Amino acid sequence: MQEKGTISIHTENIFPIIKKFLYSDNEIFLRELVSNAVDAVQKITRLGAMGHYNGEVGEGRVEVAFDADKKTITISDNGLGMTAEEIKKYINQIAFSGATEFLDKFKDAKDANELIGKFGLGFYSAFMVADKVEINTLSYQDGALPARWICDGSTEFEISAGDRATRGTDIILYINAESEEFLDKWKLQGILDKYCKFLPVPVKFGTKTEYTEDGEDEEGKPKHKDIEVDNIINNTTPIWTKQPSDLKDEDYLNFYRELYPMAEDPLFWIHLNVDYPFNLTGVLYFPKVKNDMDLQRNKIKLFSRQVFITDEVKDVVPEFLMLLHGVLDSPDIPLNVSRSFLQADSNVKKINSYVTRKVADKLAELFKNDRTSYESKWADIGMFVKYGMISEEKFYDKAKDFALLTNTKKEFFTLGEYKEKIEAIQTDKDGTIIYIYATDPAKQDGFIQSANKKGYDVLLMDSPIDPHFISKLEQKLDKTSLKRVDADVADKLIDKDEKISLVLTDEQKGKVKEIFEKSINNTHMKVEVDALNPGESPVTVTMDEFMRRMKDMARMGGGAGMSFYGSMPDNYKVAINGNHKLIDKILNADEARQGQLAKQAYDLAMLSQGMLTGADLTEFVNRSLELI
Ligand code: ADP
Ligand code: MG
Repeated sequence: MQEKGTISIHTENIFPIIKKFLYSDNEIFLRELVSNAVDAVQKITRLGAMGHYNGEVGEGRVEVAFDADKKTITISDNGLGMTAEEIKKYINQIAFSGATEFLDKFKDAKDANELIGKFGLGFYSAFMVADKVEINTLSYQDGALPARWICDGSTEFEISAGDRATRGTDIILYINAESEEFLDKWKLQGILDKYCKFLPVPVKFGTKTEYTEDGEDEEGKPKHKDIEVDNIINNTTPIWTKQPSDLKDEDYLNFYRELYPMAEDPLFWIHLNVDYPFNLTGVLYFPKVKNDMDLQRNKIKLFSRQVFITDEVKDVVPEFLMLLHGVLDSPDIPLNVSRSFLQADSNVKKINSYVTRKVADKLAELFKNDRTSYESKWADIGMFVKYGMISEEKFYDKAKDFALLTNTKKEFFTLGEYKEKIEAIQTDKDGTIIYIYATDPAKQDGFIQSANKKGYDVLLMDSPIDPHFISKLEQKLDKTSLKRVDADVADKLIDKDEKISLVLTDEQKGKVKEIFEKSINNTHMKVEVDALNPGESPVTVTMDEFMRRMKDMARMGGGAGMSFYGSMPDNYKVAINGNHKLIDKILNADEARQGQLAKQAYDLAMLSQGMLTGADLTEFVNRSLELI
């Protein structure tokens, strides 16, 4: 018996189109064919379980093999098989709404996934790499005869009697000349590792290389022989398919190490398991983030029924959680995803907000159950939490109760606790609460000590995300503003309208200003003589909070108009403490000595802030030696 026919699309050959437009992604042929084989195995298992099949179901298995001499790749399964009629129905009548639509749409298709997904062309992806494809199959049905289908990539196909003796299907690909790279063990192994590592049915991959002797073969490779082994390449029950109650910490850690062999152990994880209103399982890990270099996106792997789809999870998880690691699996995300699809899909949106909520709940739980341990992890978690608070209003609302502020004494406070702590002392004359922060405690130590002396607390804001977090806090917190500890002298950081009287007369004040201006001799250093506490430094160099922020933003490549601030020179205020006894001493010295002392005091201020460098530093050292 032999039958010839035409694949029912009413256009010329679609295969050249498939090949041409899908070429870049052609490795997914293996994912598609192995998934079909897995489906076939799962179907027979289900039929058996439901009593619709009385034969021996046996242990389901998929095998991938290749023959470099014959240039074939074969995907075999012991699934439900197909009758000749079923081949005609499922394979020949390509499952898409019409060839016309296909031809209309393919012009805009950006990648193979998009086309294959839209038109149900999974099986036909074989023609991306094969000149000829053969199906050799025997259906589970009583009295079914083995059938063979051969198609050479034209719309012509041929169905004849097959020779498969046992239930199941072989798909044999006759690899085309441009795709011979796939006739390689490492290449195939790599693709299987990528897409098939966690498939629910055991997948066997042909051969194993044994290095038998020392030395090299003709091609310069180590001498070896290939031996047939039962090499199952996949873990059929990865942890996300199990119940959390059946898993120990060690199981989660081991799975993490399997996924990311180079990474340090994660801080904690969240097991996702929901089946309504959408189906989603997965495990998300909070990685240890040591520095910004570690911030790698696209570490979450997206699966659909255990078939790997992509590690581009944009849209499925919110932007700020893309730094997490782990896996997500949802049958509601179709196997063949494309960018435009993901964005539009309503399930994807639901999954996105579900993941956000779960992460927030987990953090809230950790905070509530063991605050000490939560605090100890804050250095790593903080980045996610702050990023989330900045980028998602909904997350801010949840996180405001478990986000922590740290001060320079390494104490932790929630936003509420902190407000309560400082409110009484750090409120200015207009009722605005001033949060004071340091970005570099080593460099700003003098300022921090002065602020502490006044009873002010100083927050630590030293991570790259903190400038944005500071803006967010000012936007969200009522009557609150943040000032860097070196934005002004301690006495003026918080304007409380408390007048400290100046011991100098107006004439003396003018004289002091003149002496300093002359010896500093720099127009970007604006000298100001102030009435400060006698205990404060005689000279302090500060930069206004607003100006500094604008300059920081310009430096980070911030938005429009920022280049204006970026191009401005650094202007500082040099605050002279008119009540300090050194100023009195300068006023009473002879003229030559006045300049020298003023310069020395100014240089000391610059030195204490790490701003004295180069020739100025050398001059300072020499002058100091003379003075000794
Ligand atoms: P999909 O998998 O999305 O249905 P495919 O083009 O991948 O689309 O496959 C078309 C159909 O061919 C499948 O639905 C199935 O009925 C049949 N089929 C493909 N491969 C096999 C197989 N190995 N065993 C049994 N049936 C198969
Ligand atoms: Mg398929």
